[in-house]
Amino acid sequence: MKYDVIIIGAGPGGIFSAYELTRLQPQLKIALFEAGHELSRRKCPIDGQKIKSCVGCDTCSIMSGFGGAGAFSDGKYNITNDFGGTLFEYIGKTQALELMRYVDEINVAYGGEGTRLYSTAGSRFKKQCMQNDLHLLDASVRHLGTDINYIVLENLYAYLKDRVTFFFDTPVVSVEAGDQGYRVICDTAFYECDRCIISVGRSGSKWMEKVCTELAIPTSSNRVDIGVRVELPAEIFSHLTDELYESKIVYRTQKYEDKVRTFCMNPRGAVVNENTNGIITVNGHSYEDPEKQTQNTNFALLVSKHFSEPFKDSNGYGESIARLSNMLGGGVIVQRFGDLIRGQRSTHKRIAESFVTPTLNATPGDLSLVLPKRILDGIIEMLYALDKVAPGTANDDTLLYGVEVKFYNMEVEVDEHLKTKYDGIYVIGDGSGITHSLSHASASGVYVARQIAGENGV
Ligand SMILES: Cc1cc2nc3c(=O)[nH]c(=O)nc-3n(C[C@H](O)[C@H](O)[C@H](O)COP(=O)(O)OP(=O)(O)OC[C@H]3O[C@@H](n4cnc5c(N)ncnc54)[C@H](O)[C@@H]3O)c2cc1C
Repeated sequence: MKYDVIIIGAGPGGIFSAYELTRLQPQLKIALFEAGHELSRRKCPIDGQKIKSCVGCDTCSIMSGFGGAGAFSDGKYNITNDFGGTLFEYIGKTQALELMRYVDEINVAYGGEGTRLYSTAGSRFKKQCMQNDLHLLDASVRHLGTDINYIVLENLYAYLKDRVTFFFDTPVVSVEAGDQGYRVICDTAFYECDRCIISVGRSGSKWMEKVCTELAIPTSSNRVDIGVRVELPAEIFSHLTDELYESKIVYRTQKYEDKVRTFCMNPRGAVVNENTNGIITVNGHSYEDPEKQTQNTNFALLVSKHFSEPFKDSNGYGESIARLSNMLGGGVIVQRFGDLIRGQRSTHKRIAESFVTPTLNATPGDLSLVLPKRILDGIIEMLYALDKVAPGTANDDTLLYGVEVKFYNMEVEVDEHLKTKYDGIYVIGDGSGITHSLSHASASGVYVARQIAGENGV
């Protein structure tokens, strides 16, 4: 079977490249291959009652399927070049922002109307943060919320399903380059195309590595972010979250001069498990619907680890630390900040007596047995720094879940068109190592679609 364009991966990168291609060139024959299920069949079996921890499904419904890793996410589309990826290094800052705004318009048109766009512009917190050695990064953020994000995906699928041939539950095994185009090989069949857009996200990182080796496409990698998810009563951060929703704050530690940052803030949200290649880490989300909101706010505190020669396996390092927490706690570990400071493990009794009720059923334990000292010291220092702009952050009952790891895909060598050394193979989204967020991944999808349309004279 021959297609003009084959897209691999139905996350935001794949969806937005399909959307833009069908809009600009409706005559193109496009196929989209996705390892996971269609949206309506995506369901994680963990219900907190009968099934409390990961059972290792063949394809993880949290990470795979229509909507990609973002389908059940909080749907925070950050419009900024300050974080979320380095797309601007390839396509320029102005164009990157324009594309993120375009993605926002589509999300609003497909179900996100009525959701709020928050902004740090002119915020009084910037000064307050600076006075306490904290740095608030600039961004606008559209918060769709897990519920509306799902509706937007449903509507996008309704638009795309008659214009694109979808192959769900069909992982692509390999991609081959031929004289007349490319061959996309699945378990039971192969398909040919003139152009191939690869958008396999974080869950496809190992596969991407394999394909790059087979096609001799150069890659590089040296970063992983490791830390904890903090959960505290929503009131403590409400002055920040009510105005900004999400605040990305960076702190440089006095002890080691390491950078620690807040990441993925979920006001009145819930802490959740995340499964990456069978390793259970922690994440968080929140709902726009007030009925589904909780009493707590959660956010990650992460320390970036960059490695130099000869070590190359930064993700392996992160995985080993996450494995340690899985070994000790059978999954994610939770500890009260007061227990951590006193050098004692948390117990079910201490957690039950705490004034903060955990939203994730994690194992009480001791994070100092899991996290390297340097990382833990940085996190503790930042909690005390945050306590100055949000008093109560460093309370004894503040809960720390570990570990949270942000794995970065190795960076695939692409040019300013996001094209590899092969004329028709583009690599976009988180799978390229260039983006790490919904808005950047989506923008990269629109960008390559326009490149391809441009080559075809549009
Ligand atoms: C719980 C959670 C919450 C998050 N919250 C936010 C947030 O609020 N804001 C934000 O900006 N980011 C958030 N993120 C990150 C965000 O989801 C990702 O940055 C984004 O989804 C990346 O999009 P992508 O299209 O590049 O990749 P993905 O969304 O990862 O999609 C890739 C798709 O490719 C498929 N695939 C992989 N390999 C193959 C193969 N060989 N063959 C066929 N298909 C394959 C996968 O099944 C997957 O569906 C969150 C992530 C998680 C897990």
